[in-house]
Amino acid sequence: MTKIRTRYAPSPTGKMHVGNLRSALYEFLIAKHADGDFMLRIEDTDQERFMEGATEIIYRTMEKTGLKHDEGPDKDGGYGPYVQSERVKTGIYMEYAQELIDKREAYYCFCDKERLAGLKTEIVEGKEIMIYDKHCLSLSQEEVEQKLKEGIPFVIRQNNPTEGTTTFHDELYGDITVNNSELDDMILIKSDGYPTYNFANVVDDHTMNITHVVRGNEYLSSSPKYVRLYEAFGWQVPVYVHLPLITDENHKKLSKRSGHSSFEDLVEQGFLTEAIVNYIALLGWSPEDNREIFSLEELIKEFDYHRISKSPAVFDIVKLRWMNGEYFKAMDPDKFYEMAEPYLKEALGEGFDLQKIAAMVKTRIEVFPDIAGQVDFFKELPEYDTEMYTHKKMKTDTASSLEVLNEVLPILEAQEDYSNDALYQSLLGYVEKKGCKNGYVMWPIRTAVSGKQMTPAGATEIMEILGKEESLKRIRKGIEKLQA
Ligand code: GLU
Repeated sequence: MTKIRTRYAPSPTGKMHVGNLRSALYEFLIAKHADGDFMLRIEDTDQERFMEGATEIIYRTMEKTGLKHDEGPDKDGGYGPYVQSERVKTGIYMEYAQELIDKREAYYCFCDKERLAGLKTEIVEGKEIMIYDKHCLSLSQEEVEQKLKEGIPFVIRQNNPTEGTTTFHDELYGDITVNNSELDDMILIKSDGYPTYNFANVVDDHTMNITHVVRGNEYLSSSPKYVRLYEAFGWQVPVYVHLPLITDENHKKLSKRSGHSSFEDLVEQGFLTEAIVNYIALLGWSPEDNREIFSLEELIKEFDYHRISKSPAVFDIVKLRWMNGEYFKAMDPDKFYEMAEPYLKEALGEGFDLQKIAAMVKTRIEVFPDIAGQVDFFKELPEYDTEMYTHKKMKTDTASSLEVLNEVLPILEAQEDYSNDALYQSLLGYVEKKGCKNGYVMWPIRTAVSGKQMTPAGATEIMEILGKEESLKRIRKGIEKLQA
């Protein structure tokens, strides 16, 4: 069996979007699942869309997500160069274009803008498309040579038949047949001498021995033209896997406007790399069972591309948040603390046992920025309404709370040891004497020391962090509020 070789072929035009990362991930997984090679190729021939710094983003993201390539611009595997602009300099695209011209599968076109603007257009998939009328196909060899000599700008176009059909196979969509009359004579070499993506992807995938081409399904409609190129050259067509669209919660194509469309956006919003990768793996793919949490290693083992679905995948930020929270829960406490520390410092400053607070929030947050809202009350007792003392299940109300706070105040004043355990034992003693339920006592105390309905820990844990002086201050304040 031939070794599987896949490639991630990004255009360095901006941030690494969720869709790009999914393509990279799936290509990586398909190769690694079968012990194959995963290659990185930089497709930078579209000079107008090139963005400074975008190549660095690609490298950074691949490194961070663990999608290690076996070959690429920085790792020669014998199929280089791996950057298209460098490949242009080797003359490879022009050579292959010439081969097609010799076979009458391509031709020079000298039509200027004005002429092209006058050609009829067709609406294909909602877009206005110009269908070239093969005007220059009828130029004789001599006419072509004359125009080239005169230096008239030209492009090279594919020469597609106007009759018959072309069929190709996609692993997810099955066999697709189109009428050749629908195939535009697309440009292979542009007037600046650069190949179009449409041409370069075929030449590169073939010359780099790529066996599986995985990409977004926006390329599906152009694929018959690519297949015709393979056939014209007499090359084997790779296995095609066109991935389903990724939409936002409103079933619209995921776009920059959604605010979480790129890897770096998500990291900035406090998501963990592992959770992002895990979540993106499920944007179109699912395992046989309903399992959802996968490390990259586990994905390599489980990933069978035949299980990719054709239906659009919805990018659900709520689900990603949940998954991120699961990763926090499973994380080593020291590692969690290391990552959470900057957020805790920002929320609380100095003077608190941040490690203990980190342990409290670890299982309660979904993204790092949630930390502030969980711990802010340590720094300052928020304004709260005495209504908060009333809790149906705990059977507490403002009157019972006032009584409890008044009775525990002297106990807590006398208490020297403000560790969680010691505080808990003392209060338990009071509960037993009073003959009530724990909550009847703990609820009012927790309310008084936190001023919040929901806290990441119980009353005594909170008091341990606050210390004696601050805890008593807050309890007295509670009494004052309840008396008012
Ligand atoms: N450069 C193309 C893109 O970024 C690659 C598509 C492909 O994988 O062939 O969309």
